[in-house]
Amino acid sequence: MLQHDDREPYEFILITPQSYCVAVSAAQRGYEDARVTLYLVHQTYSALKKESAECLCSDCKTLLDTKLNQPSAFAICIPMFLASKSGFFDTLASGLCDRCSQRSDLFECVAELMHEALPKVTLVDSNMTKQ
Ligand SMILES: [Zn+2]
Repeated sequence: MLQHDDREPYEFILITPQSYCVAVSAAQRGYEDARVTLYLVHQTYSALKKESAECLCSDCKTLLDTKLNQPSAFAICIPMFLASKSGFFDTLASGLCDRCSQRSDLFECVAELMHEALPKVTLVDSNMTKQ
């Protein structure tokens, strides 16, 4: 299943209600990373509809669902050079509770999870440079 070069950088994208709108318009303009990001957000949300899931951060036990405890944001990690991809690649997608979506060490939490899943991958915080 794994086709990626395991040293290839991944980017961390935080999807908030604001950046969701930016991603939708980028996807409409044909940006593949925005399209994949939205796909993962929708997939994560659909999964929460069926079954509640814990917030991403390993030290947070908040259960998220699509009714009373909706996620405030989504954390998405996808390969940085998506345009060069064909076939399967690993991704990370999770909902975040209100508190965790604002935590200052969020990138470190995500990087830690990525490191557990894909030990050699470098994670880049694209939220600093992109809208
Ligand atoms: Zn949380």
